[in-house]
Amino acid sequence: MNKSHVAIIGAGISGLSCARRLTDRGWRVTVFEKSRGVGGRMAVRRTDSGLAFDHGAQYFTVRDERFAETVAQWQRQGVAARWEGRIAVIRNGAIQFETDETPRFVGVPGMNAVCKQLTAGLEIRCQTRVLPPRCEDGIWSLQNEEGTLLGRFDQVVISTPSPQAGDLLANAPQLAEQSRRVAMQPCWTVMLAVENRIAAAFDGAFVHESPLSWISRNSSKPERSRDLDSWVLQASAEWSTEHIECDPNFAQQNLLTEFWQMLGQSPQIPCIVAAHRWRYARATEPLLHNCWFDPVLGVGVCGDWCCGSRVEGAFLSGWALAELMLQS
Ligand code: FAD
Repeated sequence: MNKSHVAIIGAGISGLSCARRLTDRGWRVTVFEKSRGVGGRMAVRRTDSGLAFDHGAQYFTVRDERFAETVAQWQRQGVAARWEGRIAVIRNGAIQFETDETPRFVGVPGMNAVCKQLTAGLEIRCQTRVLPPRCEDGIWSLQNEEGTLLGRFDQVVISTPSPQAGDLLANAPQLAEQSRRVAMQPCWTVMLAVENRIAAAFDGAFVHESPLSWISRNSSKPERSRDLDSWVLQASAEWSTEHIECDPNFAQQNLLTEFWQMLGQSPQIPCIVAAHRWRYARATEPLLHNCWFDPVLGVGVCGDWCCGSRVEGAFLSGWALAELMLQS
């Protein structure tokens, strides 16, 4: 059994999948996360009124057999379920329903439930933003923003979006360069809830020729509150890039206007509305490389941008990195 102590920076699904696999094989792992909770882009946003929205990843699909087994296990554990929502494509106002029967899954009661499930027994330090780790004599030192030493580790894993990975890898220049090559696009997201059910024949729709690219009825997903009709609107990468530094109120107003116009309905006054900007939502062109590992330096890199820019890709990237580390 390897007794090395590994630090993983980032508690999104890739970092957690890597942590889970190493821990299950008897390795000592500490995960550092800058946010209050785990999940990263699978996070759930809870509004002041207590209503929760999946404001990042909306669902996940399954192609790989290993991921299929994990999802089946999550279903048995009650943290994932199939979303039977009716999915459409809207192009220039014309609605076409999907005929493709690809199953879509969601975490229950929120997308981050599957991430929380992965954390059982793991040592996780949230609200800890880590500075670029430094390596001396083969030992990695991690510090927080206040300059406090967080610990010394034998190996380090970076599982953040590529631009952040590029910065964190200051002591591994080749891996830093690989990471910086992968650009990521932003995504403005609006969450809204109304009292009267919105008349729409679909629960989720991919939108084309519009500032919006995806709209979905959050309350149609399993185990979500149905007291209000809640929706998540996502702007296209183009619109989000153009308005990356805009005021959240501007994004909210514009995207809401688009939403009501597209539905051809007079706007309802939402009881809940909020906007969120994901600066690094998805990789423009994800690599096809699963992960990177330098056994001499003791540094690994994983994340959705390594393969696929989806939940499944992120999970498998963390898994693949753990396998490489276990074999080294
Ligand atoms: P992340 O989830 O980004 O995790 C990285 C973590 O690192 C974050 O928690 C971050 O806070 C932390 N971190 C960063 N820097 C530091 C630091 N210095 N110190 C400590 N912690 C740090 N995928 C799908 O399959 N289906 C979808 O429907 C879908 N929709 C999406 C919609 C949106 C709006 C977005 C943003 C993404 C969507 N995705 C979707 C993509 C999916 O969410 C991601 O592929 C996946 O969640 C990425 O996981 P990850 O672990 O690679 O990265």
